[in-house]
Amino acid sequence: MKTDGEQTWRGIGISGGIAIGPAFVIDQHGVPVPEYVVPAGQVEKELRRFHTAVAKTQRQLTQLKQKAESLPAGAADDIALLLEAYKGMLSSSRLVRGVEEQIQSSHTNAEAAIQRQIVAISASFAAMDDPYLAARAADISEVGVRLIRNLLEQQYNPFADAPEGSVIVAEEITPADTALMNPDRVAGFAAVLGGAEGHAAIMARALGLPAASGVAGLVQGVNTGDIVIVDGNKGEIVVRPTVVTLQNYRQELAKQLRETRKLKSLHNVPAVTTDGTVVALQANLELPREVEAAIDAGATGIGLLRTEFMFMNRPDLPDEDEQFEVLRKLVHQLNGKPVTVRTLDVGGEKLATALGETMGESVNPALGLRAIRLGLREPKLLDTQLAAILRASAYGPVRILIPMVSSVAQMRQVREHLVQVERRLQRRGVKLPHALPPVGAMIEIPGAALAADALAKICDFFAIGSNDLTQYTLAIDRGDDRVAELYDPYHPAVLRLIQFTAAAAWRANIPLSLCGEMAGDPRAAALLIGLGLRELSMAPPRLPPVKQEIRQLSMPQAIAFAENIMTKSDESDIRALLEQGAAAPTTPSSSSGKRKRT
Ligand code: PEP
Ligand code: MG
Repeated sequence: MKTDGEQTWRGIGISGGIAIGPAFVIDQHGVPVPEYVVPAGQVEKELRRFHTAVAKTQRQLTQLKQKAESLPAGAADDIALLLEAYKGMLSSSRLVRGVEEQIQSSHTNAEAAIQRQIVAISASFAAMDDPYLAARAADISEVGVRLIRNLLEQQYNPFADAPEGSVIVAEEITPADTALMNPDRVAGFAAVLGGAEGHAAIMARALGLPAASGVAGLVQGVNTGDIVIVDGNKGEIVVRPTVVTLQNYRQELAKQLRETRKLKSLHNVPAVTTDGTVVALQANLELPREVEAAIDAGATGIGLLRTEFMFMNRPDLPDEDEQFEVLRKLVHQLNGKPVTVRTLDVGGEKLATALGETMGESVNPALGLRAIRLGLREPKLLDTQLAAILRASAYGPVRILIPMVSSVAQMRQVREHLVQVERRLQRRGVKLPHALPPVGAMIEIPGAALAADALAKICDFFAIGSNDLTQYTLAIDRGDDRVAELYDPYHPAVLRLIQFTAAAAWRANIPLSLCGEMAGDPRAAALLIGLGLRELSMAPPRLPPVKQEIRQLSMPQAIAFAENIMTKSDESDIRALLEQGAAAPTTPSSSSGKRKRT
C-alpha cells in the first residue's frame, strides 16, 4: 500500500491546527520485555492479568477489523482476514495455552511467558521449512507483541526516539500515550482509531498538537521518514505531498500563527461583556506542564485539574506525599488564583495500570466502576487523594471536584470521608487550612442534571462536564470515531440539561462553571452566558479566542441569543444560529415538515 506519490486520507479532525513533519510510525515491535518470577500466592492474579490483556487485544483487533471495512474492497478483505486470523490465535490456541502453562508451572510473569512461547512456536515452524508456516510465525509474533504492549500499558515511552518535529502515525493513541508526547519534539499525530471527544483528543488540544483520527489503513500507507501534513481542522492527512501542496499548507500555517499571535495581546484584559458582566475564564489542566501556558493565556484559575496524569504510565499508585507535592507546587504556581482539583476519574478509556485488577472488566466500561464509584468502593484510594488535596489547600485556594456524581448519597459519603481524613491529619499534626475547601460535583450524568436542585443543597459548587453529559444523554461513546458524527453537545436535549442545571445553581446561589470542551468553543460563549454561566474552563489555547468573543458581546444580546436557541428543536437550526453568532438578527425556526393541525 505504500506508494511514492502524494496521497490524501480523510478522517476526523480531533485537534485543530496544521502539523508538517517527517512521519514516525509506531509499530508494535521493539517492546522491552520484563522478566521476573511471580510469587506463589500471586499466580492466580497473574493469570487474570494475562486474560485481561487477551480480552483487550481481542477488542482492539475487532475495532481494527471494523475500521478496515471502509478501505477499498480488496485491501479490506485482506486486512479483515489477517485480523480474524490474529483473533483466532487468541482463543485457546497453542500461544494462549503455552503461556498459561508457563505462568502456572514455572511462575514466569505473563510478558516473559509470551515472549518464550513466541520463540518456541516460531522455532518449530522454522524447522518445517515451509513459507506458509514462516508467515504464520510472523503473525504469532505480531499477536504476542500486541499482548505484551497491553500488559505493559505503555510503561515505556514509544516516542522517545522520534526525531524533532515528527508527526506520529499509529493505530491508536491512548490518553497515556499523549501524556508522553513532548510538543517540542512531536508536531502532531494521526491515528486509525479514536473519536474527537476522547481524552487523547482532549489532551492533544490542550497541548496544542494538531491531530486527526479515524483513518483506515494509514499505518500501512506511511513509511517512517515520509513527509506528512496533518490538518486537524479538516481531519485530513496528506502523505508525501507535492511541492505545491506543501507550499499551500505552509502559507496556511503561517496565517494561523499570525492569528494566534494577535490574540496574545488579550492576555491581560478581563473577559468582560460590553456592558460590564465579568466572566471568569479558567484553564483545564491534564498535565502540570500546561500550567505556564494557562498563566500566559491569562487564566483566572484552574477550573479543572484532571488528576489522572499522576496515575498514568506507571505500575504503582502515587502515595499521599507524592500527590501532595505535585498539588502544592501547582497551588504555589497559581499564586493565589483558585485551583479546582478533581478526584481520580479513571475508568472507561482512561486506565491506570495499578488499578486494573481493582476495576476489573465491565461490560460497558463507561457505565461501570469508574470515577467516584471506584473511590467510594476503594476508600484508601479516595482518602489518600483527599488527604493530599486537603494538605495542599493550606497553601492557597483549592476546591475539590467529584466526578461522575449520580446521587446525593455519594456527595454525603464524600463529605464524611473528608471530615474523617481531616481528623486523621489533625492527629498527625500536619499543616491544614483553617476551613475545609469547597466541595462540588461534576454534573455530567443526565440524572445528576435532573436532580440538580437536590444536589445543590449538598454541593458548594457545580461544574458541568458537557463531554460526558453529551455522551450519556445521547448514548454515544465519545471515543468511538464510527459514531463521532452523532456526538453533538449542541443537541437540544443536552442544552436543556445545561439550562436546568444552571437554573438550579442560581436558585441555590452556588457557583457554577462549565468545563467540557464546549467551553472552549467561541461560538458557544453567548449561548452559555445567556444560560447563566459566569465561569468557563477550557484548554489553555482556547482562552484567547473565547475571551475575544465575550468582549464583543452585550448581556441582552447573549440572553436573546440563548432564548432563541432554546426555542429550536432541530439540531441543524441550532448549528446555523451558532455559526451566525449572537450579533445576527433572530431567524424563525425551520419547518419540521409535519403537517400542522388546523
Ligand atoms: C466532561 O465530561 O465534560 C469533563 C470535563 O470531564 P472529562 O472530559 O475528563 O471526562
Ligand atoms: Mg467527564
